[in-house]
Amino acid sequence: MNLVLIQPGDDVSLQAITLARSLGGPVHALIVGSDEVASELGVDVVHVARHDGLTGFAPDAHARICADVADRIGATAILAAGTERGNDVMARVAARIGEPLAANCIAVTPGQPLALTRIRWGGSLLEEARLHCGRAVLTVAPHVVATDPAGSPGSVADVAAELDDADLVVMVRDRVAAAGGGVSLADAKVVVTGGRGVGSADGFAPIEDLASLLGGAVGCSRAVTMAGWRSHNDQVGQTGTKIAPEIYIPCGVSGATQHIAGCKGAKRILAVNTDREAPIMSVADYAVLGDLHEVVPAIAAEIRRRRGG
Ligand SMILES: Cc1cc2nc3c(=O)[nH]c(=O)nc-3n(C[C@H](O)[C@H](O)[C@H](O)COP(=O)(O)OP(=O)(O)OC[C@H]3O[C@@H](n4cnc5c(N)ncnc54)[C@H](O)[C@@H]3O)c2cc1C
Repeated sequence: MNLVLIQPGDDVSLQAITLARSLGGPVHALIVGSDEVASELGVDVVHVARHDGLTGFAPDAHARICADVADRIGATAILAAGTERGNDVMARVAARIGEPLAANCIAVTPGQPLALTRIRWGGSLLEEARLHCGRAVLTVAPHVVATDPAGSPGSVADVAAELDDADLVVMVRDRVAAAGGGVSLADAKVVVTGGRGVGSADGFAPIEDLASLLGGAVGCSRAVTMAGWRSHNDQVGQTGTKIAPEIYIPCGVSGATQHIAGCKGAKRILAVNTDREAPIMSVADYAVLGDLHEVVPAIAAEIRRRRGG
């Protein structure tokens, strides 16, 4: 019996269901506070937990509910998305039930011990590991495992969550929209990123223009956030957001390992750089060798011309 904690609207949760299926046996899902995607998951049973005091994401509360449901149904494996929230909650689940957490898994083979493949060191190596545990607590690396087509909808079981005040101390109480709004980096189908080569905060104007023309999001490298040109919300990479767009356009980005760790999920990469030896060139599908201050406005102008405006 495997239990998957779902973050509604997060594709990586669906990838966790694929990983759970590979363990064999029935797959149950748990959603906290909402049943909006319950019929789309294609698992045997969806547990929908609610509590009057739970008005936003609360990692301790989610972990307690997850551990309680896992106990009740006798789950031998508990899985979630390897996102910030998924890892946050599953670390707490593991601590509650006294088991190790294996994060960033991309393949599992059932058995005792469980055989795992997981991504380590910011994506620079794959680890083959054996997990000795009573119950497996796993998160799936984002955008590596394919999402299975959903099976037929299973039954839905309501769960009245039992929580104490202490479980609700840390909770999302308010949301502040990111400056600029628009498409979120993690979900964008097109991401146009500027690196140190952009030269300044003001230098991002053509990057923003191209992203907006393509209905995409603006990203940046850590060199840019360290310089204070953009907020950390825009950072792509190991210590930023992991993205999986249809097309990724890094401009003036060298392609350090820690940056590539965040954009590996991109289907295609179009790099703009003045240096043909830059590491980004070796992972790019297409490249324009040139000054981004000329190339990016030229791409935008050509798109406008072809669209007739
Ligand atoms: C623990 C750790 C975590 C990290 N996490 C991240 C992370 O999450 N994300 C991240 O990005 N980095 C991360 N880094 C930093 C990473 O190692 C690099 O330092 C960083 O990615 C470099 O940013 P950059 O490519 O913008 O700058 P640079 O490496 O300085 O590259 C600038 C590039 O711009 C090109 N260029 C210059 N001028 C132009 C121009 N006019 N037109 C076109 N091209 C031009 C240059 O040829 C060069 O390739 C991390 C580092 C550590 C140690």
